[in-house]
This record gives sequence, structure tokens and C-alpha cells, in this order.
Amino acid sequence: MYNKDNVFYKILNSELSAKVIYENDCALAFYDINPRKKIHALVITRGLYTNFSDFVSQASPQEVKDFFDTVAKVADILGVSQTGYRILSNIGSDSGQEVEHFHVHILGGEKLSVSL
Ligand code: AMP
Repeated sequence: MYNKDNVFYKILNSELSAKVIYENDCALAFYDINPRKKIHALVITRGLYTNFSDFVSQASPQEVKDFFDTVAKVADILGVSQTGYRILSNIGSDSGQEVEHFHVHILGGEKLSVSL
């Protein structure tokens, strides 16, 4: 069950500001407020989904495609498509998911540890 009381919902509704990288009809990309790598961005859906599982089960195939196309485009904009990057999405409490609005992290700009 999606709960609107989360920071990403507030960013989507301009109640909170963010350093926006790119936006379109299906997604909004901005820099993580607490970067763990040289480049650390977040891509969030405009649709209200709690996590990856919720997104892929509830969204239309077109919406899923558009979202992941957007993730790839944001990686291009960030300049990491050639050097490499990692995408990551936390799902649920064991993963440590902090914000219950579906999002993908884009991490890069430096060598990333192979350990997960
Ligand atoms: P997760 O643990 O996958 O839910 O990640 C949530 C991420 O959101 C964390 O990396 C936080 O640093 C980041 N975050 C929390 N609040 C904000 C904010 N206001 N603007 C940008 N990033 C945020």
C-alpha cells in the first residue's frame, strides 16, 4: 500500500527541492542527498509504486519500458554509459529500503567494488 508521507512524493509534488538531472512524463532523476559514490543519482517513477515488485506487477509494459529507458538516458547524461555504472533498487526491510517510493540508484564515476 503506497503511503504519500514520504520524501520522494514531496519532491514529485515540489514540496521539497532536489537537484534535478532530468525529467519526463514517467520519471524524475535527481542527485542523492547523501552520495555514496562520486556519481550517485536516483531515478523515481511519477507513478505511485512502493518498490520494484509493486512497479513491475502494477505498471503497464510501456511504463516499465519508458522508465528503464529513462534510467539509461540519465546514465548517458551523467556521462557514465561508457565508463560503466551500477543500478540498484532496494526492496523491503531486509534490503534497507528507506524511502517507500520505487526508485533506482545510479552509481558510478569511479571503480565500484565487485562485492554486493
Ligand atoms: P533507499 O535506501 O534505496 O530507499 O534509498 C533512499 C535514498 O534516498 C538514500 O540514498 C538517501 O540518501 C536518499 N534521499 C533521502 N532523502 C533525499 C532527498 N531529500 N533528496 C535526495 N535524496 C534523498
